[in-house]
Amino acid sequence: MDLLIQRVRLGQDICDILIQEGLFARIAPQIDVVTLPRVPYTLDGTGMAILPSFANVHAHTAMVLLRGLGEDMPLHEWLNDIIWPLERRLTGEQIYWGTLFGCLEMIRSGITAVADMYWHTSHCLRAFYESGIRVNFSPPDILSDDPKALRDLQRDLETHLELAQSYPHRVELSVGIHALYTTTPESRAVCRDFADRHQLIIQTHLSETQRETDECLAATGKTPTEIFDSEGLLHERFLGAHGIWLSDSDRRLMVERGAAIAHCPASNMKLASGIFNDQAARADGLRYGLGTDGASSNNRYDMLSEMRTAALLAKVTTRDPSACSATDIFRTATRGGFQLLRLDAGEIAVGKLADCILVDLDHTGLVPGHDLISDIVYAATPECIDTTICNGNILMRHRRIPGEDDIRQACRAAAAPLR
Ligand SMILES: [Zn+2]
Repeated sequence: MDLLIQRVRLGQDICDILIQEGLFARIAPQIDVVTLPRVPYTLDGTGMAILPSFANVHAHTAMVLLRGLGEDMPLHEWLNDIIWPLERRLTGEQIYWGTLFGCLEMIRSGITAVADMYWHTSHCLRAFYESGIRVNFSPPDILSDDPKALRDLQRDLETHLELAQSYPHRVELSVGIHALYTTTPESRAVCRDFADRHQLIIQTHLSETQRETDECLAATGKTPTEIFDSEGLLHERFLGAHGIWLSDSDRRLMVERGAAIAHCPASNMKLASGIFNDQAARADGLRYGLGTDGASSNNRYDMLSEMRTAALLAKVTTRDPSACSATDIFRTATRGGFQLLRLDAGEIAVGKLADCILVDLDHTGLVPGHDLISDIVYAATPECIDTTICNGNILMRHRRIPGEDDIRQACRAAAAPLR
């Protein structure tokens, strides 16, 4: 159904915005309903401003099930001793409810697209689709060079792609290479060939810890980025999460290849993994978006908090208050992120995908209202977001999401046995 948002603030103007077939179709001071070919559903935007929604370019959404477990530990011990043993016990049903509940949290903070990596593909895809947001999903391949494992990997990639393509829209598959240290050259070659054949994005974890990077250098004489490049994996469809320990030449190589980073500042701070060099990335023209990472290492799916963290971290690291301005980081979290996921969204403009939020201008953090983007980045909390729209569909209105009470209850029940 067409959607008409009336009397909403866009920039300095008050206007009406018509959405048709999932796209912004018309923006005008006033759109008279009687002039339209079909009667639209109307939303009153009085007292609200419209902004693009956010793209979360790195998450493990179902990890909300593990939120609060194994806190305050170093990454490798945390993964080996807590997270991976718990994840091995998770059933598809638990992961379905965890993913669906994680999506509610994302919708509440205005996220309408996510690059996710997790197990039990069919359950995750179903949850993402039902939530109403967009997903670019990758199962994380952690594999040996055993011939049977490689054949299974090939078969799984084909099955997962077929499954993702069975959804009418909003669901994309990418190829997941969990990390260099959890995969082999043989398994990465299978992933590369499959991704090349189908032009899929490759998601991986890249230079997240110093240990991972040092061990790679000691064993191979190359950095993880150089290894990916030598294997033909570093290109414009490459999305590496973290990139904290990239060398200057790694960064330049990534720029040359058009590869991208998912910057996850809160997760990196909580796991004390280090600091992604935002300033050098911007200066070199490295493409990057913002990611929350999983709820075990953040522990929020909240892009407002992620933008604030990214900006403050960049400033204190460089001791330069002009580093990573509110406008810069807002663009990174919106247009920049959507571009990495190959989605033409992140702007309120005719012809763009109709993914947006309506923010309540009476929210404490948005008053007195001198600079909306600065307020959103530095002052507001997700509670300022009244309405979230994805693909022209209203996912949340007046902060209510249909079915949320049942989903919350089911998520709690699914997480209870993990304690
Ligand atoms: Zn991750």
